[in-house]
Amino acid sequence: MERILIVELGKHIGEMVSISGWVDVRRDQGKMVFFDFRDRTGLVQGVVLSGSVAMEIAKEIRNEYVVRIEGIVNKRPEKNVQTDRQNGDIELEIKGIEILNPSEAMPFDISGDTSGIDESVRAEYRYLDLRSKRMQKNMRVRSEFVRHCREYLFSKQFIEIETPLLTESTPEGSRDFVVPSRLQPGKFYALPQSPQQYKQLLMTAGFERYFQVARAVRDEDLRADRGFEHTQLDLEMSFVTKEDVMATVENMITTVVEAMGYTIKQKPFPRISYKDAMTKYGADKFDLRTEEDKKNGILAYAWVVDFPFFKKTDEGDWTFTHNPFSMPIPEHFDWLLKREHIGDILTTQYDLVCNGYESGGGSIRAHKPEILEAVYRVMGFDIEGLEERIGHILKAFRYGTPPHGGIALGIERNIMNLTGETMLREVQAFPMTRGGQTAVMKAPKLLTEKQLKELGLKIDKKWKQ
Ligand code: ASP
Repeated sequence: MERILIVELGKHIGEMVSISGWVDVRRDQGKMVFFDFRDRTGLVQGVVLSGSVAMEIAKEIRNEYVVRIEGIVNKRPEKNVQTDRQNGDIELEIKGIEILNPSEAMPFDISGDTSGIDESVRAEYRYLDLRSKRMQKNMRVRSEFVRHCREYLFSKQFIEIETPLLTESTPEGSRDFVVPSRLQPGKFYALPQSPQQYKQLLMTAGFERYFQVARAVRDEDLRADRGFEHTQLDLEMSFVTKEDVMATVENMITTVVEAMGYTIKQKPFPRISYKDAMTKYGADKFDLRTEEDKKNGILAYAWVVDFPFFKKTDEGDWTFTHNPFSMPIPEHFDWLLKREHIGDILTTQYDLVCNGYESGGGSIRAHKPEILEAVYRVMGFDIEGLEERIGHILKAFRYGTPPHGGIALGIERNIMNLTGETMLREVQAFPMTRGGQTAVMKAPKLLTEKQLKELGLKIDKKWKQ
């Protein structure tokens, strides 16, 4: 018999059907055994009546067994109808049960919210944690958000292009994760902190509108809203102004979250300068929601603009605040080229803030070699330094690179806002623990002597335990 999804059962009243899924709950009442079965579409109650041939096997089954059930979809008598539950008006009268795979007892309770369970236990059994209702919902909201964004961008003639994972370090302001090369022992690739340079090169390549759901890897201190790995909805557009990119993103976000049933506090999104935000909120990310808004799951977006381009390092040198590939605002263009009033130069950077998080950031880029060169000169690079660091992109800019700009939205931070979660790892399928341990698998780990030899690596004996 063909499998029917649990959500469809209501259409099959009086019929013999087959469902497949997990045993969510089992209640043995002696003469009768009740079950809740679960598949990806929801829950239904089933009952094995006394005298049924399925009784023997029903007694054997435990929670989280994977089963195939055959039974008749019955309407429940009026007094047993549970209007607050999915399929609360029907019940499956079980005629046959096949155990597709048994299950050991769960290492922790997955029937409720698992956020209070020890982090390392959840990580070890993440595939079970993900069965819980909240985690299923978070993953589905994430998928929906990305799907809607993709659809929006395709409808605006963007094309999706993947950029390399093994690459050269890009200066996003964090430490790189590096990968040793076997073919060139002693040399290393870096995992991308973002596709920044490649997406700009795609503008040189004439694609005009690019996006990617890109993995970004940064070796930074782990915090509630930060992990080693995150995903960005990364996009770039040619022949645009700051207003064009901001309007595209604002329209996309509005279309996407409203299609998903959310309410936005203020449209168009309010704008505030970095300076005013610091005076008013003491930070460049802030929460514009009232207590009432918070209860109702309202999304309060705002743009922050006019950030300083440069700041001083602890050593007293200049470095960029957000993105070295940005263009200054037009009024400060000359200052940059002449290297005057460095601390006062404002960048075209725009950050999207939502409910207290920075949910995205981007800028109009330098698209001429002399502009990017001027930025790196301010930061103390000489000719050789420039060549070594950004020679490839300066070269590309000499071959007709159009004016362009873009943004990257942090998928996790956006999903945290949509789901009300406060931890990044609650919206990632297989996140690391706070100590940087991978979920389920045991990385980081030692390499074998053979691997080390192949890679030309020697581990200091103080690290070998
Ligand atoms: N590459 C930047 C980042 O990852 C975002 C952008 O400017 O597009 O922060």
